[in-house]
Amino acid sequence: MLLTLYGTRGSVPVSNKDTKKHGGNTTCICVESSSGDVIIVDAGTGIRVLGRSLITRGKHEINLLFSHYHWDHIQGFPFFGPIFMKDTDLRIFGPADEVGAEKALSYQMTMPYFPTGLSTLPAKMTFNKMKKTFTLGDVKIETIVNNHPNHTRGFKFTENKKSFVFLTDNEVHAKNGKTSYKEFADFIKGADLLIHDAQYTEDEYKTKIGWGHSTYHQVAKLAQDAGVKELMVTHHDHFSSDKFIDRNIKDVRKKYPKYKIEAAADGKTRRV
Ligand SMILES: [Zn+2]
Ligand SMILES: [Zn+2]
Repeated sequence: MLLTLYGTRGSVPVSNKDTKKHGGNTTCICVESSSGDVIIVDAGTGIRVLGRSLITRGKHEINLLFSHYHWDHIQGFPFFGPIFMKDTDLRIFGPADEVGAEKALSYQMTMPYFPTGLSTLPAKMTFNKMKKTFTLGDVKIETIVNNHPNHTRGFKFTENKKSFVFLTDNEVHAKNGKTSYKEFADFIKGADLLIHDAQYTEDEYKTKIGWGHSTYHQVAKLAQDAGVKELMVTHHDHFSSDKFIDRNIKDVRKKYPKYKIEAAADGKTRRV
């Protein structure tokens, strides 16, 4: 699988000289299977650039998965070029435990917030309730319920015995959380790569308990306990500068020297 990160920022997009290195787009990643299946997770502002790339490469069959429908995970959708093209076949999968993807997307594409309604788009779109485990092409996708306000899913992608886990908007140590720390560790076990939300430092977390996000050290410990060799932290706080993120990575690497730990950045790619 080829993984490309298009948006790695949390909560709201940012653009300034201090965030150039890691980027300012909100959550969007693209997974391409070895046979060319396109699987996108989340439609944060990063999906805008991905859309142009898919159009240029003539990719018409697209799968789009939603972890949840908080703004930073859907707000790029109205600017995703393929939805305005007739030959696009867009299969959308999202949790439907509170509200489904069709409703969530139509709420933001309605007057007076947006001039074009979801139902008038030229692309062929199908909306599917997300199962716990399902397959797209050759890729097996397992899901887990994250600890986050509003129903949110994390994902494990497996193809050719290689796997990676994408858990964003997740508080691993949430009090009275929907999923326990051990259940997350079991879910991640054996993965080649873990990409996990680490919006906060330990100090910042003290005032953000219950907000549904984790810290650098919490997720490094989780990676260690689950036996994952490589960790990438994402959902960078919108106030975190490149320097601040790099300093936090340096700090966590000191405590976990055996692990490859790095910060996710817009445009980064990884073959799993
Ligand atoms: Zn988010
Ligand atoms: Zn969220």
